[in-house]
Amino acid sequence: MPSKNLTIPRSSEKTPVAAAENHERILRPQTIGFISLGCPKNLVDSEVMMGLLARSGAELSPRVEDADVIVVNTCSFIESAQQESVNTILEMAALKTSGRARKLVVAGCLVERFRDEIRKRIPEVDAVVGTGELQNILAATGVAPTPAQNDSPFVLLPSRAEGDARAAQGRFSRGQWEGAIANLPNYLYDDETPRVLATPKSTAYIKIAEGCDHPCTFCIIPQLRGQFRSRRFESVIAEAERLAQAGVREITLIGQDTTCYGEEFGLKDGLALLLEKLAKIDDLRWIRFLYAYPNKITGRLLEAIGTHEKICSYMDVPLQHASANVLKRMKRGGGPDVFLRSISRMRSEIPALTLRTSFIVGFPGETDQEFEQLCDFVREAQFDWMGTFAYSDQEGADAFALDGKLPLRVIERRRKRLMEIQRQISKKKKKALVGQEFDLLLEGMSEETDLLMEGRTAMHAPEIDGKVFVNDFPPSAEPRPGEFYRCQITEAHDYDLVAKIL
Ligand code: SF4
Repeated sequence: MPSKNLTIPRSSEKTPVAAAENHERILRPQTIGFISLGCPKNLVDSEVMMGLLARSGAELSPRVEDADVIVVNTCSFIESAQQESVNTILEMAALKTSGRARKLVVAGCLVERFRDEIRKRIPEVDAVVGTGELQNILAATGVAPTPAQNDSPFVLLPSRAEGDARAAQGRFSRGQWEGAIANLPNYLYDDETPRVLATPKSTAYIKIAEGCDHPCTFCIIPQLRGQFRSRRFESVIAEAERLAQAGVREITLIGQDTTCYGEEFGLKDGLALLLEKLAKIDDLRWIRFLYAYPNKITGRLLEAIGTHEKICSYMDVPLQHASANVLKRMKRGGGPDVFLRSISRMRSEIPALTLRTSFIVGFPGETDQEFEQLCDFVREAQFDWMGTFAYSDQEGADAFALDGKLPLRVIERRRKRLMEIQRQISKKKKKALVGQEFDLLLEGMSEETDLLMEGRTAMHAPEIDGKVFVNDFPPSAEPRPGEFYRCQITEAHDYDLVAKIL
C-alpha cells in the first residue's frame, strides 16, 4: 500500500477444514451482515445496499458473526479511518478463515482509494464495491436481482460549472494513487431506490447531494466521491414523505456540502427551498441539515431556519481553522473577523441558535501564533459544539506536498489545548440550560448504564453531539423510545445534560 503508515498485512489463506465447514453452510439460505464505518453519508450507502439486497429477497442478519456473507462498508477520510477499515476487514477475514462466514465483500471509500490492492493483499475478500456502483452489491454477494433491478436506475447526473472547471485543473485525478481505478463515482440514489434504515425508527438521514467540488488542500473526498451532484428536489421530498408515513419524525439532510444543493439545476437557495417544503410535511417534527460551507450561507437560508418551527435552530458549519494564513493554505478563504461577523449574523437571524463547528489542528506550517489565533477565535465565538481533528497527511491531497509538517506530539498537544478551551465553554453553556424546558426525543436505554434512559433535544444532532440522560419520569408516564416528551434540564456536565420528564 502506498499510503504512509497504512498497514495492510498479507492475510493467510483459508484452511481446508474451514472450506469443508463452508460447504455445509452454503446448503442453507444465505444471510448477509453489514458493518458500516465512517460518516452518516456512508451509512446511507449501507442502507441503500441493504435495501437492494432485501428487495431481491436476501435475508439481512443484525449480527455479522452469524452472517454467511459479510459486507464491510469502509471509510477512507483520514489515515486513522483507513486503518480502522483495514483492521475491520482483517477481523472479518478471520471469521471467513474460521469457516463462520462464507463470503467477504468490501465496499465504500477504501475501495475507491485502494481497489486492486485490497484484493491483492487480502485474498479472503471475494468482491469489492465502490461508492459509485452500489447496485453491484447484488452480484458481489451472489444475490440474483429482481427484474426491476435489471432496469438501470443509475442515470448520469449533471455537474456544476465550478466542478467542471476544477476537473479540468485535475482536482479529481487519482493518477498518483496506485491501486485505484480512474473512473470517478457518479451514482446517487433516489426515492425509488429501496433503503433499509439502520437508525432508530423515528429518525433518518436523507442524502441530498454527493461528491464535492471544493479545493480544500487537506481533503481527498472529491477524489473518493467524485464531482458534486444533487438529487432532484421532488425526489428528496418524495423520500421524506415516505419516511414520515413510515413513522420517521426527524430528518437530517446530509451531503459533503449541503449548501451547494441544487446549483447544477439552476436552483438559487435550493437548500432553503428544500427545508421549507419539508417543513410542510405534517408528520415530520424536526428537520435539520449538516455540513454547511461557510461562504455559502445565505440570508434566505437563515430566514428559513429562523422562521419555521420545524427546522431546528441548529447549524453545523465546519470552519477548519480561523487564521487567514492557514485558511489560505487550506484553499478555503475566510479569517477570524469575517467568521465572527457571519456568526453574529446567524445568531441575530436565528434566536437560540445551536452552532457546531470543527477544526483541523496542526496543518502544515501552522505557527504558534496562528494556533493562538485559533484559540482566541474559539474563545470569542463560543460554539455550542466543536470537534477537533489532528491534521493527517493524505497522499493525493495538495497539502501532502506542503513544507512545514509538524511533529505528532505538537499536533496532539495543540489539539488537547483547543479542546480544553472548548470544554470550559461547553461547561458554562450547558450550566446555563439548567431549569429550562425543551422537547426531547427519547431514544432508549442509556448505553452507559441500565439505570438511565437517554434522548436528544433539537440542540443535539444524532450521534455527534452530547447526550441528555433522563433519570425521572412522572409515575403516570410510560417511557416509549421514539416518542417526544417535554423535559426540564436538572443537571449539566461538561458536554452532557440530565433531564426529568414533565
Ligand atoms: S468542502 Fe473541503 S473538506 Fe469538505 S468535503 Fe469538500 S473538499 Fe473536503
